[in-house]
Amino acid sequence: VVFDRVADVRAHLDAARAAGRRVGLVPTMGSLHEGHLSLVRRAAAECDTVALTVFVNPLQFGPGDDLDSYPRHLDADIEHAAGSGAAVVFAPSVAEMYPEPSGTTIEVGALADVYEGASRPGHFAGVATVVAKLFHAAGPCRAYFGEKDWQQVLVVRRMVDDLFFPVEVVTCPTVREHDGLACSSRNVRLTPDERRAARSLFEALSGAAALVDAGQHDPEAIRRHLTGIITREPLVALDYAAVVRAHDLAPLTEAKTGEARLIVAARIGTTRLIDNLALTTAAPGTP
Ligand code: AMP
Repeated sequence: VVFDRVADVRAHLDAARAAGRRVGLVPTMGSLHEGHLSLVRRAAAECDTVALTVFVNPLQFGPGDDLDSYPRHLDADIEHAAGSGAAVVFAPSVAEMYPEPSGTTIEVGALADVYEGASRPGHFAGVATVVAKLFHAAGPCRAYFGEKDWQQVLVVRRMVDDLFFPVEVVTCPTVREHDGLACSSRNVRLTPDERRAARSLFEALSGAAALVDAGQHDPEAIRRHLTGIITREPLVALDYAAVVRAHDLAPLTEAKTGEARLIVAARIGTTRLIDNLALTTAAPGTP
């Protein structure tokens, strides 16, 4: 069932909870790929009613960002969502999510000012605000987010803790294409040459992780390794590459397996891509 009104999706999910069903929520901007569907499948395995939300949130896009050209495929999304176990799709309009006049936003704190937040001012206030609104529309639930957007996961968890949302945040591993590139709705915009160059992000991350496995724990040496692999690709303009403490993105004096995370962002042509990797040979860590 597809809803475009907050009141309708809320009534539906309230009724589900009243009937004893556990609600799973998967917030997305649509143009679903295997990464999104892995979240839906995980939610379907752990919850009784899964609601996928599809909303390209203008608040999290900056003036130079790709809001207008962001891919939109609602009909295909609805089909994929159902095929992966989401019984509910909530796809509101901008006017439904941001009725005029509205001025309230969520301010996140220091976590929102570094890395993605520094490169995209206002981005995480936009993310936190829309996620807060979606959480309120959905009510108490488990909400599923991808590790691919590591800083976003930290921001959402922080908001849930700080503002007492009745939501349990579940983080799911990054789904990758055959050559390691993290699945992203933006990948379809890469030309064949750019698509080949985009491999350098994961090559850098896995190369640096291997360096740590081999005993290198100096964050600066690891960062240089990351930077070296990405900058030798002429089509890729590196934004940042860093070794950070996984749970708060703080700088580290020693990169230890389990505690540290590698994060990168780069522009390829007009497309901005981000990726990250846990420093562990076992299962990827969760924040
Ligand atoms: P987006 O539509 O890009 O806002 O993403 C919606 C959700 O899907 C977010 O929680 C993302 O972290 C997650 N996601 C996006 N790409 C991937 C991926 N490759 N693997 C796992 N989760 C992903």
